[in-house]
Amino acid sequence: MKLSMIVAVSLAGAALAGDEPGPKPSPAPRPEVVSASDWGSKPRPIPDSRKHTPKFVTIHHAGVIWAAKVTPDVFVRNMQSWGQRDKSWPDLPYHFLIAPDGRIYEGRPLDYEPESNTKYPLSGNIGVEMMGDFGAQRPDPRQVASCVKLTAWLCDRYGIDPSLIRGHKDAASGQTTCPGKDFDRYLKDGQFRRWVQEAREGKDPAIDLGPPLPGGPTEPIPAAPKG
Ligand SMILES: [Zn+2]
Repeated sequence: MKLSMIVAVSLAGAALAGDEPGPKPSPAPRPEVVSASDWGSKPRPIPDSRKHTPKFVTIHHAGVIWAAKVTPDVFVRNMQSWGQRDKSWPDLPYHFLIAPDGRIYEGRPLDYEPESNTKYPLSGNIGVEMMGDFGAQRPDPRQVASCVKLTAWLCDRYGIDPSLIRGHKDAASGQTTCPGKDFDRYLKDGQFRRWVQEAREGKDPAIDLGPPLPGGPTEPIPAAPKG
């Protein structure tokens, strides 16, 4: 063993023997994401004036009933071309989109602020959207599990405190019910942040969405067609 290696090994030992109760858990890993090129994204250039530093994770639902008529790839391609045509948005309004079966799709690059139909300061928001309408259908546990893993990774990557995870309605007060009452309840009662914190500690959170709310919705979101 070279001297330099002996020094490195003993330094590592010293670090483990510090005041911490054990080795620090490694940061939450990046979950598997379907890349923009894989789903056939055709982004337009975003001006430099829209660059930002992520400070919040802002959670959305699509607000459109998911009836499993199209694949998630088609859904995100349609949303991108609709936004370019009707709203003059250069790229998807969100940074990530999550299908009912948990597949995560890459949206606009994280270096740029998102878009919105509501008025709130967009700079600093990472937009994470789940397909479906959670005012009328219940999220799939796989979809919520992917949202937890993705949010844990984003919090670690950008040094975002879990208190800065919020729903769209919390950012744009009085303008929207997004992300829908059947998801918003997990933000309101702190359960979503607790799942994210467990994921950041290297645990596999036991995600239990519980019974329907009094007054619904009661219908589970249908799975996405494969492809
Ligand atoms: Zn929203």
